[in-house]
Amino acid sequence: MNILYPKRAEYRKKITKITKCEFCNRKNINQQECKTLSGKSWMVLVNKYPYMDGNLMIVPKRHLRDIEELNKDERNEFYQVFKSAKVKLSKIFKTEDFNLGINFGKKAGSSIEHMHWQIIPRKEKILNSSNIFADLYVITISPEKLRKLIDKK
Ligand SMILES: [Zn+2]
Repeated sequence: MNILYPKRAEYRKKITKITKCEFCNRKNINQQECKTLSGKSWMVLVNKYPYMDGNLMIVPKRHLRDIEELNKDERNEFYQVFKSAKVKLSKIFKTEDFNLGINFGKKAGSSIEHMHWQIIPRKEKILNSSNIFADLYVITISPEKLRKLIDKK
């Protein structure tokens, strides 16, 4: 399956030029943060370059590369933050099905070394001409709209 979201292709080109950590630059990510879901140690961000509709990222506030670097408080809080994000997405997208994933290292597909979880609600494949003939997934909810939906409820 291919994903149609033109900004994602731009992003793939852009990331090779990024030298500073995108998640540590709070000014950059302020517009992405779902403040009603973030915790003390974790931020919940909409993915500016979503894989699918509803794509959120759960990111530790400290610059960490691996789960082994998480302290006890961060590990404990992760569950609560994840659960809140899942419940919220479940209501918005009316599904109980999710992908939760993480890539460690460039060879595993990670584009930012600051660890982050991707959470994606999954629905039945919408049958439209793109999906049937091109096996293409079309992003229908912009990251900005998703953030507003999440923080208003
Ligand atoms: Zn960082």
